[in-house]
Amino acid sequence: MPFREIFGHDKPLAILRRALERDRLPHAYLFVGPEGVGKKTVALALAQAIQCQEIANDFCGRCADCIRVTHRNHPDFHELEPGPGKKEISIQQVRDLERELSLRPFCGRRKIAVVDPACLMNTAAQNALLKTLEEPPQGSLIILISTSTGGLLPTLVSRCVRLFFTPVPVDVVVELLVARKGAQREQARLLANLAMGSPGRALSGELDLLVERRRVWLEKIAAVGAGDYRAALAAAEELGAAKEETLRFLEWAEGWYRDIMVYAVRKDDNQLLNRDCEEVIRQQADRYSLERLLVLRSRAARTAARIQRNVNRRLALENFFLQTLRAS
Ligand SMILES: [Zn+2]
Repeated sequence: MPFREIFGHDKPLAILRRALERDRLPHAYLFVGPEGVGKKTVALALAQAIQCQEIANDFCGRCADCIRVTHRNHPDFHELEPGPGKKEISIQQVRDLERELSLRPFCGRRKIAVVDPACLMNTAAQNALLKTLEEPPQGSLIILISTSTGGLLPTLVSRCVRLFFTPVPVDVVVELLVARKGAQREQARLLANLAMGSPGRALSGELDLLVERRRVWLEKIAAVGAGDYRAALAAAEELGAAKEETLRFLEWAEGWYRDIMVYAVRKDDNQLLNRDCEEVIRQQADRYSLERLLVLRSRAARTAARIQRNVNRRLALENFFLQTLRAS
């Protein structure tokens, strides 16, 4: 699968292809952009383009080297992530990587390492990597992947060539779903909207499940919105049962209130994530003030952040729903 078959990301891909063609790859890239938009896909594509035996400066996706990169068992391709059961990437892991990168490539053209998510390197690990980047091993390439530059040492960031990834436009994700999954256009549009610019999510099948769960969530939000106190407590109990489900619900709820705000301001259903719920969204837009919608949206995000930090899920959700009651 050559570069041109990657959907979206025209700008970073053009930069990478130019660097490959001129043989002017830096020692380190930092790919920055939202979760799930395709940073890792592009990192793997670049690694394949460097190692591919069949095509120069691009990749075939079929030769032994391309397949080894895809299967993560290429001897000149390494991935750094937190070890099993660990929350951070340690200094020892970075030192081991440095040793590995200082060796000659085994069969490929360069030694390549991908650090994802780079912000999970603790400070000692980042300092160790900084030393590596100050005197990079010849013929090595390190690709750091992160949703922002926030958790990284500025000195480390400044040693990397930064490439910015943005959410993939809805129309491009629609084309992707039609081409790869044979989806019907209307269904593809709904999924593409819900995927919020992430081709990976759109293709994963996770969204089909989301479409289904959404009906349940909508009923709960509607019951709570109608001022049903007992419904609020019951919803908190049910949705708080599993952490993944709770977080998914809150992420969706944030998008839901965003939709109502967008509709209230623009009266345009093309901008909606939940396009197929226009009727309900229209009714809600008449009901809530923009200030209240802003509060609800930020409460959904804040509750999700608290649950990420492992507070009691049921209580956090109860709080969220009760505030929703008050806001209506
Ligand atoms: Zn190949």
